[in-house]
Amino acid sequence: MSNLPSEPEFEQAYKELAYTLENSSLFQKFPQYRTALKVASIPERVIQFRVVWEDDAGNLQVNRGYRVQFNSALGPYKGGLRLHPSVNLSILKFLGFEQIFKNALTGLMMGGGKGGADFDPKGKSDAEIRRFCEAFMRELSRHIGADTDVPAGDIGVGGREIGYLFGAYRRERNKFEGVLTGKGLAWGGSLIRPEATGYGLVYYVTHMLEHAGAGGWQGKRVAISGSGNVAQYAALKCIELGATVVSLSDSKGSLVAVDGGRVTVEDVEAIMALKAKRQALADYAPPQGSSSLKYVAGVRPWLHVGAVDVALPCATQNEVSGEEALALVAGGCRFVAEGSNMGCTLEAIEVFERERREKKAGGGATWYAPGKAANCGGVAVSGLEMAQNSQRLAWTREEVDQKLKDIMKNAFYLGLDTAREYVPAAEGELPSLVAGSNIAGFVKVARAM
Ligand code: GLU
Repeated sequence: MSNLPSEPEFEQAYKELAYTLENSSLFQKFPQYRTALKVASIPERVIQFRVVWEDDAGNLQVNRGYRVQFNSALGPYKGGLRLHPSVNLSILKFLGFEQIFKNALTGLMMGGGKGGADFDPKGKSDAEIRRFCEAFMRELSRHIGADTDVPAGDIGVGGREIGYLFGAYRRERNKFEGVLTGKGLAWGGSLIRPEATGYGLVYYVTHMLEHAGAGGWQGKRVAISGSGNVAQYAALKCIELGATVVSLSDSKGSLVAVDGGRVTVEDVEAIMALKAKRQALADYAPPQGSSSLKYVAGVRPWLHVGAVDVALPCATQNEVSGEEALALVAGGCRFVAEGSNMGCTLEAIEVFERERREKKAGGGATWYAPGKAANCGGVAVSGLEMAQNSQRLAWTREEVDQKLKDIMKNAFYLGLDTAREYVPAAEGELPSLVAGSNIAGFVKVARAM
């Protein structure tokens, strides 16, 4: 699957998908799908380029830019742009590979891709970010288009960056078209797009809770990692539905509830303002008496949240280790769903899957949903933004939210039903959502190929 000396993230994503396909009845029933997997594991096209931009002191800076156009069997390449110093081809290939099957699970006509650069937005001024985005788009604009490849945001790329990129594309190509999603409303963006990944994640878990007979969100204790776009709106939706959110985090540390405390709407709103200024969570000082939150430097939340019912990793890849998964399960966590892409390590997934198999539905099993299903709400509303742009119309907030709810429900039941069809299971076992979602997404793409 890889011919480079080391592509650890991509190899992990490939292994996770291939393992579930091999351990189902899919390849026995349809041997030609084995060939389809081999073909699908190589990107249709990889573009690498140099991005030269000028900093505020007038010095030239240089970064590596990429776009992995992985698979266009279901539609134009679609997937975000990540700006983070860790970005390399292995990470973008893993993200692009996941994106193919995630996009298929939305039921919309979108292929899969991913891009970005090893540029670090932290500590940069708005003007530096704008100059970087313009330089990045100068090259990328040759390779994308509303019917070719439609990038969006990911880590380090939000509404502001999409605005700079959209303006740059318009100038470079002399075209106003739906070439990016996550745009501001003024340029044809969709209502609910900023909220979509977080809201969609919570809508998906609603079906997990319901199907497992665990009731609604009221009173559930929820651990969330991350404090960016996905974590913010997942937290707000959980709070709206009556759950108690007990953590948020960033790359430097975690904010955890103590003394029966909880993350409030006011906390989330203050953290949103802080993050918009690219500040660290450590700088957050909760207003006196409004919440009991403690900041723990240098840790992820999972070992510090005590007993929780639901865990939502919403920060980045491999943010739950095997050891942390064991601690979550020991604390009674029964529902894990990834807002981040590949949030759980293979070891963590094995812990959750073992719990599901061995404890059975009535015996306190833990149920795990992979990112490609649970976080597909973001790209789903991107697909709805593309549809609105093609029609040159804008839908209401209620219309988009209802469509998002329907898409998340379909993604859940598609994974569930596909697992029942292809994965052997013992009496009383909850279906494997990771196997079912992988197979369902893969079959859709393979058929189109
Ligand atoms: N970056 C998001 C994801 O991982 C959204 C991609 C998009 O909207 O195209 O799905």
